[in-house]
Amino acid sequence: MNTTQHFTSLTNALCSLFGEGTKIKSTSRISGGDINEAYGLTLEGGKSVFMKSNTKENLSFFTAEAVGLNAISGTKTINTPHILGVGTDGDRGGYSFLLLEFISAKSRNANYWEDFARQLANMHRVPTAGLVLNGKYGLNCDNYIGRRRQVNTEHESWTVFFRDCRLEPQFKAAARYFEKDDLKRIVSLLDHIDDILVEPEYPSLLHGDLWAGNVITGNDGRAWLIDPAAYVGHAEADIAMTELFGGFPPVFYDAYKEITPLQPGYERRRDIYNLYHLLNHLNMFGRMYLPDVKRIVRRI
Ligand code: ADP
Repeated sequence: MNTTQHFTSLTNALCSLFGEGTKIKSTSRISGGDINEAYGLTLEGGKSVFMKSNTKENLSFFTAEAVGLNAISGTKTINTPHILGVGTDGDRGGYSFLLLEFISAKSRNANYWEDFARQLANMHRVPTAGLVLNGKYGLNCDNYIGRRRQVNTEHESWTVFFRDCRLEPQFKAAARYFEKDDLKRIVSLLDHIDDILVEPEYPSLLHGDLWAGNVITGNDGRAWLIDPAAYVGHAEADIAMTELFGGFPPVFYDAYKEITPLQPGYERRRDIYNLYHLLNHLNMFGRMYLPDVKRIVRRI
C-alpha cells in the first residue's frame, strides 16, 4: 500500500509538491459533499489542486480516506484521484486537509456505465490478503462512513463481521428511535443474521459508500471513484448501495453480472446491506430516515 505524505501546513504542502514559492492564485468552493468543505485551488503557475478540509481534530477523516483511495488504486482496475498529501494548518481553530489531483470532468464515454461495471467487477475480484492481516473481512484500520466511525475489526466470517461491525453499532446508536416491538425484531434480526446473509465466494475490496455522488467522470470520459469508506467484504454490499438512492442504469447491472453473477437471494440481502446505510443516515441526519429503517426491520 502506498504511504501518504503528511504536511505541517498548506504552504508547506504546496511548496513541497510544486516547488518553493508556490502560491494560490484563486480558490473556488465546490459543492456536492456532505461532510467536508471542498475547494478547487488554482496555483499561480496555472495548475489546479482539489482540497477537502475539516477541523484540525478531524485529520483522521482524511488519513482514513487516503488509505481507502490507496487500496482502490492498488487494484489497478479503476481510476481514483492521485493523493498529493494530507496535513493540518494553524493552531487552535486550525484545519486539516486532504489534497488530491483535480479531476476536471469531461462528458461521459458512450459505454461509460458498462465500462464502469466491468472495472468495478474486476476491482471486486482482486485478492485482498494484504488489506486484512488477521482475518478475511474488515480492514487493517478503522475509517469513517460519512462522519461516523466505521469499525473494521478483522473477522473470519462475513456475516459475523456485518452483524458486529456494521449493524450492531448503528442500532445501538439509534436505540432511542425504536419502540419495544421493533427492538425485539432487531435483536432477532441480529441473532439470525446467518439466515439472511451468506458468505461470499471470495472476499472483495469494497468502495463502501458507492452512491452516484461518489462516482465522478474524469477527463478520460470514464468513471472515477472518490470518497471511499473502503473495507473487505462481500461484493454485493457495494452493488446494494448503488441501488439505495435511485440506482444506476440497467446496463450497469447487466455488465456487472456478466463478469460476476449475483448469488441467489441477493434482493433480500440488499435490504440488510442498505439498512446499514439508512441507519447511518438516521444517526447522522435524523428522523427522516426512520420510516425506511422501520420498513426493513418489520419486513425481514
Ligand atoms: P465529502 O467528503 O464532504 O462527502 P466529496 O469527497 O464527496 O466530499 O467531495 C465533494 C465534491 O467535490 C464531490 O461531489 C465532487 O463533485 C468534488 N470532487 C471530489 N473529488 C474531486 C477531485 N479530485 N477533483 C475535482 N472535484 C472533486
